[in-house]
Amino acid sequence: MERIGIIFNLEVTSIWRKFEISFTYCILHRLGAHSHIRGLGLDESLEPRQVAQGMVGQIKARKAAGVILQMIKEGKIAGRAILMAGPPGTGKTAIAMGMAQALGKNIPFTMLAASEIFSLEMSKTEALTQAFRRSIGVCIKEEAEIIEGEVVEIQIDRSITGGTKTGKLTLKTTDMETVYELGHKMIDALNKEKVLAGDVITIDKASGKISKLGRSFTRARDYDAMGADTKFVQCPEGELQKRREVVHTVSLHEIDVINSRTQGFLALFSGDTGEIKSEIRDQINTKVTEWREEGKAEIVPGVLFIDEVHMLDIECFSFLNRALEDERAPVVIMASNRGITRIRGTKYKSPHGIPIDLLDRLLIISTSPYDEDSIKEILVIRCQEEDVAITEEARNVLTKIGIETSLRYAIHLITTAHLVSKKRKANVVDVSDIKRVYELFLDEKRSVNYLRKFQEQYMFNEIPADEEMEG
Ligand code: ATP
Repeated sequence: MERIGIIFNLEVTSIWRKFEISFTYCILHRLGAHSHIRGLGLDESLEPRQVAQGMVGQIKARKAAGVILQMIKEGKIAGRAILMAGPPGTGKTAIAMGMAQALGKNIPFTMLAASEIFSLEMSKTEALTQAFRRSIGVCIKEEAEIIEGEVVEIQIDRSITGGTKTGKLTLKTTDMETVYELGHKMIDALNKEKVLAGDVITIDKASGKISKLGRSFTRARDYDAMGADTKFVQCPEGELQKRREVVHTVSLHEIDVINSRTQGFLALFSGDTGEIKSEIRDQINTKVTEWREEGKAEIVPGVLFIDEVHMLDIECFSFLNRALEDERAPVVIMASNRGITRIRGTKYKSPHGIPIDLLDRLLIISTSPYDEDSIKEILVIRCQEEDVAITEEARNVLTKIGIETSLRYAIHLITTAHLVSKKRKANVVDVSDIKRVYELFLDEKRSVNYLRKFQEQYMFNEIPADEEMEG
């Protein structure tokens, strides 16, 4: 199923090379394997609800992920690595997607399958470096002119010293007359206990009415989103020269690309960035450190998710060990469904194919196979997501298939059974549709049995019939 018609407007601005790009294009949005996941499904005290935000069960792992999420949001951890380990189809990627949704758009989240770093275009370590820098945000503060009719924003920093209440104003304006006038109104507001430290408030200059807007509204459209009841200051005519602060979050990698002479900023959109010279990165690091010291920018360590981490080789693991020690490093979440297996690039075996020294620095979250109720619930959610009506009986059969084969296989049957039901002009999927697609498409176990039976007829067959195949 396709959902069509998303239009993007993108603005990119950098401090020392200022430009803006605005473009619009349409994408076709297809339903992905995890499109039903909208968050981790936790309540305010970080306890997972059995079913919420598209997430079902896997309570312990979701709780652990929630704790990590909170620490990331509070900026308490950077450079930590987490491993999600569990059998195939137990929701490791789904949990990572839930974390990405819950982090919101201001904290970068990069997703990568370990095999993606093996490419002819760039070295493995360059690909990993780019993935790391994509996961580190730089929150840049710039001053922008306010034009007539725009919102004036005022922030209050309030502290209590020795029993005396004092209010410190941060007025985002250079007009002293306004500072003086609004200052008095602000003190009134403080005395009336209306506002707290960090609150963003606005003052209607004509009526003197103060409205509290919350904590981090920085753009006019955010105010607009608050609805018609919200009052905010409009610049009266003649006061055109005030300035206000605008905040952009870009990733370190985007800054690298924009400043890379060989690539140019258009590479950001094609994704074809090639290798970036280390001198460029050094210059960017120095510049960003300067901005930090001048209070113009903040570093926001985000999350890098590496799926199928056992596909990395020993050189990549050694790179990760070192890269995690950088003060700007993001939180790295890895996932693997492997047991004890060979570390690529060596002849040694290790849990999940990860060297012991790296394993030792990981926080490990394990996922376990689902029970019948959870499988049923996930299938119900997927049917809703795919707009598929299904009879109770067919749902039970599908759940049974999910238990005996795999959750993924059962999820795949929803779409195919829906097509088959449409062919017979029915609006609801019933048991006959499920049966039909079950016969048409083999699950992993039946496929292996089939191969065992007929392997002699295939080319290059090397495994004797009674020998176990690698999972
Ligand atoms: P693998 O090890 O094979 O990569 P995985 O553990 O990453 O598997 P997922 O891809 O996350 O498994 O899960 C398989 C399918 O089941 C996906 O469509 C996923 O969205 C869904 N799913 C898994 N767990 C849950 C859950 N707890 N709640 C809702 N959907 C889930």
